[in-house]
Amino acid sequence: MHGTSHLFIPGPTNVPEEVRRAMNVPMEDMRAPDFGDFVTGLLTDIKKTFRLKNGRVFIFPSSGTGAWESAITNTLAAGDRVLMSRFGQFSLLWVEMAERLGLEVDLCEVEWGKGVPVEDYAAKLNADTDHQIKAVFATHNETATGVSSDVAAVRRALDDANHPALLFVDGVSAIGSIEFEMDKWGVDLAVAGSQKGFMLPAGLGFLGASDKALAINASNSEKMPRAYFNFADMIALNDTGYFPYTPPTQLLRGLRVSLDLMLGDGMEAIWARHTFLAEGVRRAVAAWDGCELVARGPEWASDTVSAIYTPEGVDARDVIAGAYGKYRTSLGSGLNKLAGRAFRIGHLGSLNSVMLCGALSAAEMALMDAGARITPGAGVAAALEHYRTAKA
Ligand SMILES: *Cc1c(COP(=O)(O)O)cnc(C)c1O
Repeated sequence: MHGTSHLFIPGPTNVPEEVRRAMNVPMEDMRAPDFGDFVTGLLTDIKKTFRLKNGRVFIFPSSGTGAWESAITNTLAAGDRVLMSRFGQFSLLWVEMAERLGLEVDLCEVEWGKGVPVEDYAAKLNADTDHQIKAVFATHNETATGVSSDVAAVRRALDDANHPALLFVDGVSAIGSIEFEMDKWGVDLAVAGSQKGFMLPAGLGFLGASDKALAINASNSEKMPRAYFNFADMIALNDTGYFPYTPPTQLLRGLRVSLDLMLGDGMEAIWARHTFLAEGVRRAVAAWDGCELVARGPEWASDTVSAIYTPEGVDARDVIAGAYGKYRTSLGSGLNKLAGRAFRIGHLGSLNSVMLCGALSAAEMALMDAGARITPGAGVAAALEHYRTAKA
């Protein structure tokens, strides 16, 4: 079949040509005398994408899940009480990990389609006068439901309660794509991964740690077993520009170029681009009869991924299979209880309005093929009008 395939899952995302070319290099000596300067430059520049001045960003050879684990094992102890909320497959998995690692999870169950329940958090923090809660967790962008939460408001809830708990944020599908301010929001541990907004293959887990998180880590060195993801080992070697184990050098060469691209664009411009692109998708969904966003209102709708309920009687699995089989377009599946009921369009990373119109065309055709009664072209027309007239 001629032409290219189209990837519109919310990760891995499309890798820019210049990043791909930068990774097509021979193996190199990760202990070479000049490799340290290269790594130091990466460690300095990646902090700018997290909006972090002090503290550190760790680069682990892992996926984002490894950075989740590192954040917990390096700063908490088994039996610690933590405040978490569950409203989609990713927040669900983070809760599961916390429980496996022995944390005592104070869990807020939230309807899928909404996000972090800031008022419930505030009430629990205010009631916790003897500071039993050691950490508060927020999934900034729930990739399964296309829901973004207000992390700044979680920080305000902590401050209003004068509560010293650490603030953990899963920013895997947020950091590098939508507004994220690690310093300004007082985030202590921020998790990201290479294959989403950073426009790289999977294989690097990024973890931002505030000075407060690093100080707690240094003072509780034996509280929870930690080995591969131990901050101390990473800090000792990173300070010289090297790693405690073999780093994936090609991915690091790619990261150099993706950071150059991102910082060249500027974070504010990247955030605005994601809002602009997402709005076209939302217009299309609104124009598809019987379809609606899983997000329960515009205040929850994510700028990096849209999860879309199919019309009554239309199986989302047929839409996804049809888009892939007939139109060579990968759409994201409905995860967990959204299986069959929703599909997802990833709109983060390296993409533009015309690429997204391709995805919307494929989704629209696949929806009709699967039985949706949509006026042909309705969704795509709504998106075109937005992309043509709105300020990019
Ligand atoms: C993708 C994703 C993860 C998991 O990251 P992996 O790199 O697959 O380990 C965690 N949280 C969110 C919100 C994600 O989107």
